[in-house]
Amino acid sequence: NPKPQATPSQEAASAPKAVSSRESNSSLETALAPALEARKQAHLYRRRRTLSSAQGALVTVDGEQLVNFCSNDYLGLANHPSIVTAFKNAADHYGVGSGASHLVSGHSLEHHALEDELAVFMGRDRALLFSTGYMANLGTINALVGKGDAVFEDKLNHASLLDGGLLSGARFQRFLHNDLADLDKKLARSDGDRKLVVVDGVFSMDGDLAPLPELSELAQKHNAWLMMDDAHGFGCLGASGSGSAEHFALSQQQLPIVMGTLGKGAGSFGAFVAGSEVLIETLVQQARPYIYTTAMPPAVAAATRASLQVIQEEAWRREHLQQLIQQFRTGATQLGLQLMPSPTAIQPVVFGDAATTLTVSELLRAQGFWVGAIRPPTVPQGTSRLRITLSAAHSAGQVAGLLAALEGVVKSLPELTPTS
Ligand code: PMP
Repeated sequence: NPKPQATPSQEAASAPKAVSSRESNSSLETALAPALEARKQAHLYRRRRTLSSAQGALVTVDGEQLVNFCSNDYLGLANHPSIVTAFKNAADHYGVGSGASHLVSGHSLEHHALEDELAVFMGRDRALLFSTGYMANLGTINALVGKGDAVFEDKLNHASLLDGGLLSGARFQRFLHNDLADLDKKLARSDGDRKLVVVDGVFSMDGDLAPLPELSELAQKHNAWLMMDDAHGFGCLGASGSGSAEHFALSQQQLPIVMGTLGKGAGSFGAFVAGSEVLIETLVQQARPYIYTTAMPPAVAAATRASLQVIQEEAWRREHLQQLIQQFRTGATQLGLQLMPSPTAIQPVVFGDAATTLTVSELLRAQGFWVGAIRPPTVPQGTSRLRITLSAAHSAGQVAGLLAALEGVVKSLPELTPTS
């Protein structure tokens, strides 16, 4: 059937506006540019730097060789020979891409073996791989709670945990950092069907630990479930390196939902959740970022299996890291720098103001040290900081060098004397 003819005025109303792509781009740019400019003015603009070397204590960044104090490669495994070899061998066998999601055809023997090994290592019934930690957090929280439920998150939780809670549709409440009384009050008042308490094991920008034994008791008292993100504890804490749950000797019953990432201490890529059979099977069936994404490359899983071996066999890495942490904290305290109560590889020095923090990090770079300046919105306003991360790849001499450089910078600019 021929379409009825439109009148000229109807045609004009329904026709797409005759704008060139150049004009529509410029209206996009006009809308977006002021926010970018405002960020620059406030010293909050983020820039990427480009590495042309492997991760390690010494890296080449934008053509410059620097001592790297801002990676999460806490054990120095990102470029470990036996892990690299495992990666290459598996790539020879499996190729590069996994080809599909786990539930379609992307789940290989390497993934399967890694999940089994992670479950044993973590002392849990079962483990499930996710392609990234961000997705593991979104997927897990959203599979466990929704409308009518309640989720309680530490104020300093990682963005992926906060986003997961917000997305879930559950009543979302943040409690004061590590404040058990505040959480107790909020749990007592809650009328959520299911209650989920979510914390970082090691807080990513402060380096301190969550009081997991007390949180576990509180969760049990209120019939709530406890989930812990161990992105910064996995590999580093506990005698065997399995993380914060091992550090506090918490069983699956006491801490039923553990998430860990593989791109930090393990020096690889990806993430996992470990817990009971029923928990893991619920995630397989319901976690959308698990179901609807391509599985990590099998060679990454194979490399991570090798990394799990190294984490357990090379305990000296954790011991050396602990010595460097002590060395840094003692030296920095002698310099009058205000440290945070962090027993981990994350050692922030707070300067408060974003511009000052940036200046300090640039002065350190001029002396050959790469240290990240962390500013809002990653950390609260007025708490901009250097986030110094130590690694088993560092030598005591490199840490001494950083301390000497910090001393020079702070002395040359007395107004920069940091406050906590
Ligand atoms: N949780 C925490 C505490 C993190 O620090 C990070 C990474 N910065 C993630 C989750 C996300 O992990 P991934 O990088 O594997 O997505």
